[in-house]
This record gives sequence, structure tokens and C-alpha cells, in this order.
Amino acid sequence: NAEQRWELRIHGLNDGLKLVQLSDQSSRYAAERMRTDFVANASHELRTPLAAIKGFLETLEDPAAGKDDDTRARFLKVMYDEADRMQRLVEDLMSLSRIEAEKFQLPEEPLDLENLIMDVRRFYLESRGRKDADFKLSLPDEMPKIRGDLSQLSQLLHNLVSNAYKYGHKAKPVTVKVEPNRSGSMLRLSVTDQGDGIAVDHIPRLTERFYRVDKGRSKAIGGTGLGLAIVKHITQRHGGRMEITSELGVGTTVSVYLPVMKESATADESGKAAG
Ligand code: ADP
Repeated sequence: NAEQRWELRIHGLNDGLKLVQLSDQSSRYAAERMRTDFVANASHELRTPLAAIKGFLETLEDPAAGKDDDTRARFLKVMYDEADRMQRLVEDLMSLSRIEAEKFQLPEEPLDLENLIMDVRRFYLESRGRKDADFKLSLPDEMPKIRGDLSQLSQLLHNLVSNAYKYGHKAKPVTVKVEPNRSGSMLRLSVTDQGDGIAVDHIPRLTERFYRVDKGRSKAIGGTGLGLAIVKHITQRHGGRMEITSELGVGTTVSVYLPVMKESATADESGKAAG
């Protein structure tokens, strides 16, 4: 099996005895392979816009091309766009490595999830020109308490909402919903769009780094291919899990389930004393 790697060690012992040790190294090799694939993919993703920028710079150096204002403006625009792409990619790569590397401890205090959602909503209304009706909310009367890192969960929601707008139908709203699961032990935060949907074969691979269903489309609308990989990492760091459901021609829902804080004993006791 190409995925299997064994390591054989033979140790000489006294009296001519030999100890033969056979150990399964498959997971170490697989991890190594993932790392080298990742570096190769990341380099490739950065090389493409860099090559485009260099190509346009060389053309602009040509005095004939430099004279035409329209051409110059067009070339500069492309160069800015490519530089933006590189910047987004570097920022996403840095986020990923920060999330992976950080010694992570969840804050003791509960997170104000409602405020976080409202901030993300405000961003889309004020900076991205979305209207009230484009961003629907469905929040429970009482928000379950969760522990979470504010900046990471804010990035998680930004990534999901930005995908919903990128791949959703332009004229249809995006819905952000919070609800407790049946037992109340987890909170479900979901983002739903009414877009083209995703074929079922692709769904298990969407959280892989640089995996895109339609590479051309993702690039054209400014995707890096890292958004859902970042969401998955953040979710795992919070002790949660992710779920993607989609129907072609109908839309997609990406949900993350995060553990709800247990009420502390003192809160219970004060509740009893008050009652
Ligand atoms: P990208 O930067 O390309 O959007 P992501 O990791 O966020 O990268 O998503 C990976 C791929 O999953 C996207 O390229 C797209 O093909 C698909 N995808 C993600 N979210 C949606 C969605 N809401 N609807 C349809 N396809 C989606």
C-alpha cells in the first residue's frame, strides 16, 4: 500500500541475539507529506500573481506602452488586484499558522456572541453596501453562553458570511442563525445562502487547504481557498465540530457546533437561594 510506511530496526544484543523492531510510521509520513504539499501549494498560489505583476511591470517599462494612458491605467489596475490577492493569501496563511501554533486557552468569561454577530452584520451593511434585508438574523431569546476567542470567532463568522455572499445568489439574503441543539449542550451557529449549492462529492474536501470546487470562479471573486480550512481549525480549537449541507440549485448551510458553558455550582446555588 503506497500510504503505508514501516520502519525496521535491528538491534544487536549480547550473545549474538538480535532484536527486530518494526514500527508503523505511516502517520508521520502522511503528516510530512501534507506539510510539503502545503508549502508547494502556497508557493504556487503566490507565484502566479507575482509573475503577473512582474510581467506587467516589464511591459510598462517599454516606453511605447507607457505612453498610452488607458493602457497604463488598465495595467496598474491589474497589478493592484494581483497585489491584493497576494495580500489576502499572506494574511490567510498567517492566520492559519497563528491558529495552529498558538498555545490556546479559552477565556474563562463567556463571549458576547450577539455583539460579535452584530459587528459582522454592521461590517457588511456599512462597508460592503449590503442592505438590512440582505442579512437576516435568527437569534434565540436567550443566548446560550459559550467560551470563545473573540478575534478567532469573528474571523470564523466573517469567512462564512463572505462565502455566502460570494457563492450565494446576488438578490437573495444570507441568514445567520443561532440555536441550541436538542440537549442544550451545544450551540449551533449557521450561515445559509441561497446560491448554486455544492455537489455532494465535493463537500468532504471543502475544508482542505486550497481545495476549490471551481478554481477559476473562486479566484475571480477573490477567494484564497483557505477560508473553510481556517473555519475548521478555529472550530476544533474551540472543542466544536463543523457541518456542511448543500443542495444544488437551492443553497448551502455551513454550521459550527460549539460547546455551551455549564452553569456553575454557585449560579445554581444562588438561583436556589433566591427561589
Ligand atoms: P475560497 O477562498 O475559494 O472561497 P474556501 O475555503 O472559503 O475558499 O471555500 C472552499 C471552496 O468551497 C470554494 O472555493 C467554493 O468552491 C466552495 N464554497 C465555500 N462556501 C460555499 C458556499 N456558501 N456555496 C457554494 N460553494 C461554497
